[in-house]
Amino acid sequence: MHTCETLIIGAGLTGLSCAFHLGRDHLLVEKENEPGGLVRTRRRPTDPEARARCGEFLCDGTGHWLHLRTPEMRALVERLLPGQLIEHERRAVIHLAGAFTPYPFQANTYGLPREIVLDCLLGLIRARHPEDFGLQPPADPPRHFRESLERLFGAGICRHFMVPYNEKLLGVPLEEISPTYAERFIPRPSLEDVVKGALGFSRESLGYNAKFVYPRAGGIGALSRALADALPQPPRYNAEVRSVHLRTKTARVTVRNPSVTANASTTATSEQVVRFERLVNTMSLPEFVARIEDAPENLRAAAARLRATTVHYFDVGVRGPGDAASQYHWIYFPEPQFVFYRVGSYSAVHADAAPPGCRSYYVEMSGGDARALLGQPEALRTRVLDDLRRARVLGPNDEVLFMELCRIPNAYVIFDAHYESARREVIETLAAHGVHSCGRWGGWNYGGMEDALLEGRAAAAVLRETA
Ligand SMILES: Cc1cc2nc3c(=O)[nH]c(=O)nc-3n(C[C@H](O)[C@H](O)[C@H](O)COP(=O)(O)OP(=O)(O)OC[C@H]3O[C@@H](n4cnc5c(N)ncnc54)[C@H](O)[C@@H]3O)c2cc1C
Repeated sequence: MHTCETLIIGAGLTGLSCAFHLGRDHLLVEKENEPGGLVRTRRRPTDPEARARCGEFLCDGTGHWLHLRTPEMRALVERLLPGQLIEHERRAVIHLAGAFTPYPFQANTYGLPREIVLDCLLGLIRARHPEDFGLQPPADPPRHFRESLERLFGAGICRHFMVPYNEKLLGVPLEEISPTYAERFIPRPSLEDVVKGALGFSRESLGYNAKFVYPRAGGIGALSRALADALPQPPRYNAEVRSVHLRTKTARVTVRNPSVTANASTTATSEQVVRFERLVNTMSLPEFVARIEDAPENLRAAAARLRATTVHYFDVGVRGPGDAASQYHWIYFPEPQFVFYRVGSYSAVHADAAPPGCRSYYVEMSGGDARALLGQPEALRTRVLDDLRRARVLGPNDEVLFMELCRIPNAYVIFDAHYESARREVIETLAAHGVHSCGRWGGWNYGGMEDALLEGRAAAAVLRETA
């Protein structure tokens, strides 16, 4: 039996940051053969022969752009990737009624059909100054996310963008979502900005992601690798926690030992028991609870109430001249006639992500028509390509080199009526058993890479204080 003071499950950014800031007796186990979790970069096409034919593309797990708001995390990332960060100004748009309008939609309606602009402007003015329209301001707080959005932005902006886009992304009606969902991530322009944006005096640089940074080489995975390399002891890769026993403070870990010889590649597996004093979990919370052998009934019941939506995306490689919308960093698609909710381009941000003369995209799908088509991969591919051409992301002379379909389980946690109480019950019950569960999925939350780094650091601080 292996013993350690702290066992950390998962070498994504949260687990890596926790190990980095803890800096002493810990065992960091990762089921994959490399660090990073969702913050990894893959060579595409996956098939080496296809790669030899069409050249090597670098694809992240959909767009992963770094927004660093705290000086400490900026300093950490700069230390990990010295001289390697390039700052980019967002080129993001919304595609609506055949037009492209800059993000954020609420402050950039200029160029859309006049009826839509009028609907958006009047809706916002009515929501912000109801008395001018003979209406009473609402007395009660909003009941759900849809009502929050309507009060903030008015009926028009919600009808044309906020509601259809978020419902396509989350795959559930917004009446099911809590009123405070994603507050930090939604830009709230002043009435002045909205009016200026409707008349073409646009201020595009609104919102938390107006600028972002990205590594000069190696994709976003360079960050995870640099953090893993900075650890006092490397993570244990190919090591999956199968089960945890809270009372005996033990975990059963399956270790894969792949070996490649001239004739064959084989994988031997062995099982190890790890005895720990403290446990940090960063794998998905419901999945983790399901692996606890002696989970109390309240824990299982609360975990069963946690919901999330799954995102599917295509990595797409293309050769050719492109079309009007080929060079945006990312595009939002609220309308149901487009099967995806967002399309982004790795190579528009970083040209080295694709070979010369080529471009690369990630095409994200969740609710709407995508759901029904997921069981029919060929029909889905055809529909995606048709829609990309209709949106002028792909041009008539582009040659599609590859399309690879990937899945992100639990991509977006559903902040429904049960969310707060169920999550609290799970996190607090685990904490009472010496388990600290954190990160986007371990903490069952909505946050970016910087949040993962911060949460890992906070977990290390808690462990140090309670040592
Ligand atoms: C669609 C999408 C787009 C995003 N875009 C951005 C963006 O542009 N900018 C941004 O800042 N953030 C973005 N994010 C958020 C970012 O991906 C997360 O904040 C970050 O990946 C969280 O890291 P983590 O370590 O908490 O989780 P993970 O990355 O999931 O790491 C968990 C690790 O645990 C491992 N693991 C799981 N089970 C076990 C087990 N049983 N035993 C051992 N190991 C295990 C996994 O393999 C994984 O490596 C995006 C997220 C999504 C879903």
